[in-house]
Amino acid sequence: MKRTKINDLFRGDLLGQEVTVMGWVRTRRGNKHVQFVALNDGSTIKNVQIVFDLQDFSDEELKPITTGSSIKVDGILVESMGKGQSVEVQAKKLEIFGTADPEQYPLQKKGHTLEFLREKAHLRPRTNTFGAVLRVRSALAFAIHKFFQERGFYYLNTPLITASDCEGAGAMFQVTTLNLNNLPKKEDGSVDYSADFFGKPTALTVSGQLEGELGATALGAIYTFGPTFRAENSNTPRHLSEFWMIEPEVAFFDITDNMDLAEDFIKYCIKYALDNCIDDIEFLAEHYDKELVDRLKFVLDNEFVRLSYSDGVKILEESGHKFEFPVYWGADLQSEHERFLVEEHFKKPVILTDYPKEIKAFYMKLNEDGKTVRAMDVLFPKIGEIIGGSEREESYDKLQKRIEELDIPMKDMWWYLDTRRFGTVPHAGFGLGFERLVLFVTGMTNIRDVIPFPRTPNNAEF
Ligand code: ATP
Ligand code: MN
Repeated sequence: MKRTKINDLFRGDLLGQEVTVMGWVRTRRGNKHVQFVALNDGSTIKNVQIVFDLQDFSDEELKPITTGSSIKVDGILVESMGKGQSVEVQAKKLEIFGTADPEQYPLQKKGHTLEFLREKAHLRPRTNTFGAVLRVRSALAFAIHKFFQERGFYYLNTPLITASDCEGAGAMFQVTTLNLNNLPKKEDGSVDYSADFFGKPTALTVSGQLEGELGATALGAIYTFGPTFRAENSNTPRHLSEFWMIEPEVAFFDITDNMDLAEDFIKYCIKYALDNCIDDIEFLAEHYDKELVDRLKFVLDNEFVRLSYSDGVKILEESGHKFEFPVYWGADLQSEHERFLVEEHFKKPVILTDYPKEIKAFYMKLNEDGKTVRAMDVLFPKIGEIIGGSEREESYDKLQKRIEELDIPMKDMWWYLDTRRFGTVPHAGFGLGFERLVLFVTGMTNIRDVIPFPRTPNNAEF
């Protein structure tokens, strides 16, 4: 079907020409001489106004054009007299694809709450807000590939089904084809997984990092970008059960290289969105977050503060601020602590490094002090942790010792340890939660509103 996207109508070069537009009707209004339809086709936040002269169209013909219906219009693109729009289409011919019964179509009026729209997640992409968010999300996904590809990183696809249960990043969703109502049992009464599909227990991955390290220690620099799953029962505005993660992993990289990469990467993505999605971002700013554009520019214009966990904890302890969760050396920082450092103290993004080994994963490189590891978390205003990463322990002996100390079940992990047995190298990487980045760039406040179909505890509709 030949059509002109509405986004292209505003370019100016089609003025005076005959165009064919197709889309969904946002509103229809007018009088007995002329009717105006605001049409949107998803290519832009902007609607184009279609003008129906009632000398050419009958009332009867226009009546089915209600909010949500879908139409095709042939007409002439002309400059608009009305304020608020530059061009409009003078309709010559109308075809109705589908009607939307006003009694039943749920997106009638503007200004539905985000909570209401979550219940209508199958239709909410048709709203201005979700159109904007989803376009920004798509642009950011492209920017991510562009950033890494331009720098010689290879896109590595790591498995979603995994048999390693030691990643420690969060509770896992089990994957099984066993009949849960009639489980095969071993003599001691435990489930006999040798009868399961893979012959052993498997789960959905919480991270592609371990396999990412295999790629990095062969290709030099890789990134993953795919779904990850966490079965934590954390009902927060920043956690999903299914989310997308970007995980670069680089050989011959130390923690400083890793921090530089993280900072360049986030700034690149934000700049890409500002350069390519400004209409959508301005719409979101106007409706949800007046400071959005300034905040994005502020991140671009400032270097991230880099300091150690120990110094961060000292600042928090001496702040006199009353936190809900206590803060002391050794405590896992909560979002309120992270946001205090970023929003109240430094008023800039912060990269916190060198965390106590007890609160970080087994594969992180041990510092000389024997107490801290070369971890780095990037903390952002409004979000808290947006990136978590580290330099990895490359010494086989130290890694082996850590695994024993933590009693990690490594029997299925011999392949991971082989990276340290054969040609081990210093290397580092990090994970960025894609939805946390989209949250930041769109100014939305609930992570359920930046993924088309959110998965959260007790919610797997659509
Ligand atoms: P948090 O402390 O916020 O729960 P985490 O420390 O468990 O996060 P990591 O295992 O370091 O997270 O994962 C890397 C990144 O993935 C995080 O920095 C964050 O951006 C993102 N992330 C982690 N868990 C979730 C989740 N449940 N939903 C969405 N994004 C997440
Ligand atoms: Mn983390």
